[in-house]
Order: sequence, then C-alpha cells, then structure tokens
Amino acid sequence: MEIPKQVLEIIQKLENSNFEAYVVGGCVRDFLLGIKPKDWDITTSAKPEQIQELFPKSFYENSFGTVTIIDETPDLSLKNIEITPFRLEGKYSDKRHPDEIKFADNLEDDLKRRDFTINALALRIKDNKLIDLFDGQKDLTNKVLRTVGDANERFNEDALRMLRAIRLSYELGFEIESKTLEAIKQNSNLLELISEERIRDELLRIVKFNPESIQKNKKSDEVNETDLESGPARIFETMRELGMLKIIIPELEIGWGIGQNKHHIYDVWEHNLRSFTYAVKEDFNWQVRLAALFHDIGKPKTKAGEGSESTFYGHDVLGARMAKQIMNRLKFSKKDIDKVVLLIRYHLFQSDPEKITDSAVRRVVRNVGQENIWDLINLRICDRIGSGVPKAEPYRLRKFLVMLEKALREPVSLKQLNINGQAIMEILNIEPGPKIGYILSALMNEILDSPENNEKEKLEKRAKELNELPIEQLGQISEKAKEKMEQIEYEKEEETKKKYWVS
Ligand code: ATP
Ligand code: MG
Repeated sequence: MEIPKQVLEIIQKLENSNFEAYVVGGCVRDFLLGIKPKDWDITTSAKPEQIQELFPKSFYENSFGTVTIIDETPDLSLKNIEITPFRLEGKYSDKRHPDEIKFADNLEDDLKRRDFTINALALRIKDNKLIDLFDGQKDLTNKVLRTVGDANERFNEDALRMLRAIRLSYELGFEIESKTLEAIKQNSNLLELISEERIRDELLRIVKFNPESIQKNKKSDEVNETDLESGPARIFETMRELGMLKIIIPELEIGWGIGQNKHHIYDVWEHNLRSFTYAVKEDFNWQVRLAALFHDIGKPKTKAGEGSESTFYGHDVLGARMAKQIMNRLKFSKKDIDKVVLLIRYHLFQSDPEKITDSAVRRVVRNVGQENIWDLINLRICDRIGSGVPKAEPYRLRKFLVMLEKALREPVSLKQLNINGQAIMEILNIEPGPKIGYILSALMNEILDSPENNEKEKLEKRAKELNELPIEQLGQISEKAKEKMEQIEYEKEEETKKKYWVS
C-alpha cells in the first residue's frame, strides 16, 4: 500500500515553506495495519491562515482549526484531505467540546491530546520516521486499545472517547486495556453529556460494520453459541456491562432477563441481539440491521403472564413507537426513521401459507410498500433465526414467498391491452354487450403471441376486422384467450415454485 500522491505533495509543499508536516492519527494506524485508511489527516506547524495561503483551493472550518484541501484529481477514492495545525487539548468545561481551540507549537503536544495510543502515531515522510511517543506501535502489535495518559482524565475531558473505544475495538478486533476498561465503567454516566449526533455517528458505524470473521463463516444458517461472545452482539453486550447502554439506549437494555414463551429459548434482550447478528451476517442493509436490533423492544412493557404461555400483545405497535423515540432522540433523518419504524411496526405479519389468503398477502405489501417488502422479509428471517427455535419452518416461509411473488407480479389481464371497452364501442359504433368483451379477449389472444402488436392503431384496425366475424366464433376465440391467460399464470406460478423449491 502506498500513501496517495496528493498527500505526499501537500506535505512537501508545507515542508518547502519551512513548516513541519506529518501524516497523523487513524490513517497512520490503518496504514501500519495494512488497512486502507478512510481519510488522510495531516498535522502541521503552520497556522490556518498560512495553510490557506499555500493552498488557495481550500476552506477553513473554524471550530477545529482544520483546513480542508479540495482535491480536484479524478481519484475519487480519496476524499478531501484535511490539514490541522498542531493543537493543544482544550479545557472542556461542559465535557462536550473544548472551550476554545488552542494551537500548539510542537508535535508532541498535538499527539498528547489524541485519544488512544494507536491513534497518536505520526509519520514524517521525508525520512520515513515514525513518531511514537506513547508506545502505540506496541499496542498495535498486541492489539490493545489504551488511552493516551490517564484514562479517567481523558474520558472526563470528552466522554465520547468511551464509545470510540468500543467502536474501534470492534472494528479492529482489539482488546480494551484493563485500566481503560475500568475507567469506562467508572465514567460511563458522562455519556449523558455528549451530543446525540456524535453518539449516533458512532452507533451507525457499529451497526454498519461487517466483521470479516462472521462473513467468512457464512455457511450455516445458525447464529451459534459463540456469537454473543465474539460477534456483533458482543459489542452491545459490552456496552450493557459497562453501563453505557442504559445511557444511550435504555429501551434496548430493559429486555435483559425478560423471559419469553414457548416460541423462544432466549430472553428478549438476547433475541434482539441474535436477530441483529444474523442481519449483519447476511449483510442486510443497516436499516434492516437496526430494525432487527430493535424489533422486540416493545415486549418488556407488553408482557402478560409468565412462562411458556406468556403473551406480548401489541409489542409491534409499541416497539415501533419506541424505536421512533430512540431514533428521533439520536437525530436520525426522517427517511431513515420512517423506514425502520415501518419494518418494526409490521414485523409480525402472518406468513403461514395455511392461514393466509392472497388478499392478505397483498395487504402486507400495501402496509410497507413494494420498496420495503424484501426488507420486511429479511427482518422476518432474522427474527426466525434469532429465536433459536428450529420449529419455525423455512418451508412455510418459502411457500409464503411464492404467494408474495404472485402478489407482486402484474396479473395477465385485459388491462394490459392498449385499448379498452369504451374505445371499442366508439370505433365500432356498437352498444354495450358481450360482444365488446369478446373482441377484447380476442385481441388479447393475439397480443399474447405477438406483444409487438399491442399498439393503439393496430388494435383499432384489428378490432374492426374481428367485428365482422360471427358472434359464436368470437365467443370461442374469447374462451381460448381465457385458457391461454390461465395457462400463463400457471406457468409463472410453477416458475416461482421452482425458484423457492416448493412443490
Ligand atoms: P476512523 O477514521 O477509522 O473513524 P480515526 O481514528 O481516524 O478512525 P477520526 O474521527 O477520523 O477517527 O479522527 C482522526 C484522529 O483524531 C484520531 O485518530 C485521533 O487521533 C483523533 N481524535 C478523533 N476524535 C478524538 C477525540 N474525541 N478525542 C481525542 N482525539 C480524537
Ligand atoms: Mg480518520
């Protein structure tokens, strides 16, 4: 892997003007790990105005002192490159953001303000020197996440770092060092002070992440026992254990220890987590993943009775409402909220082919809209696997999918003709009666074989010719057309059955 040319050029330009300049932070970490960095950050002794003078095509964001260079090369894999002057840790009176940005005059101070040792590495390009003041390299090798300096202090300055620790340990597969972990336990309440947008962004990264380990292991359907120990569920389990979840999403945590009925072997908490794990495993989109994580959060508050016969009436409606509250609070976009909430609201749809009619299937489609129907099905699959009860038969679901495909497909009908009964009456100047239907059917009979003739003018001309035939003959052709239409429907049905291995 190489450092992009544009990054090298920027550094050289700064150095040519006698400023110090380094590649720094997450990109050095990723680079050393052999992961392609998402963005490249440069830190320098130059002040914002000096950077801007050197790079006229840039903009300056006051809140962080960062100057963004607009990269105009066609390499789209490289987003804008950010140059930040050496900075000092600010004073955080509100434990949210520094009161003011203060620039430092040396690299050391800048590295000191960074969150974790593995994020506090800087690379000097001209002599290929790695500046590692806090043994970040050692932690990289040992796969350990450790704060720069005293963990307690660092989390008190900015509580989001605790969530960053969890997220990074998940993404990188690193252990959180014990003192750092202990400090999170001590300070998790401070997350209350952090803006919901920053929390949302970290959560989203967690939900969207695809752990290589479980993608590789995709063969079996099951979410095996170890998944709570190491998989995507582990991250939420850890947040719960450390006292973070009760601050960020208390609604999710209350499912812990809430037993379910005979249809489940896990409590509500574990079931939500396992459903989420399966959604990640199947690489479903993040909205489905989030819906899977939240789909049963309405259960604790709707539970009636105990043991194998307990019920949770209305948990779909309540769960949808709760998910909406959570996502509103975390400032998700309205579009994303609507989608996730809709999926949760309708996740209980009847899918037993023995108990459902075609019109009920069409209603399911109408409820969530065609654009969401496959996401709803995917949520159902997560729900089923996450319940841990093999009784939920995949065969029934496949039969249901055959019905669903039927509901989604346009039936073969006279409506497909580019002419209607009204037009026939006008052109042929005839009164309403069976003949009109016969002529339409006869036209359909021909269109099914030659769809290219389904054009208004051709149909009008043909209608006039058909009008000359005796009515008995028209009746017979019309019968034939109906049979042909039924046959086509039948063949389509057989095709979908084959697709879903349903006989
Ligand atoms: P990624 O880009 O993969 O999310 P990253 O570590 O690069 O990970 P960024 O948010 O891009 O994360 O931040 C870049 C660098 O800025 C970090 O590597 C770290 O050195 C520093 N940093 C970011 N957020 C904080 C914070 N809250 N406290 C201290 N330093 C931080
Ligand atoms: Mg980064």
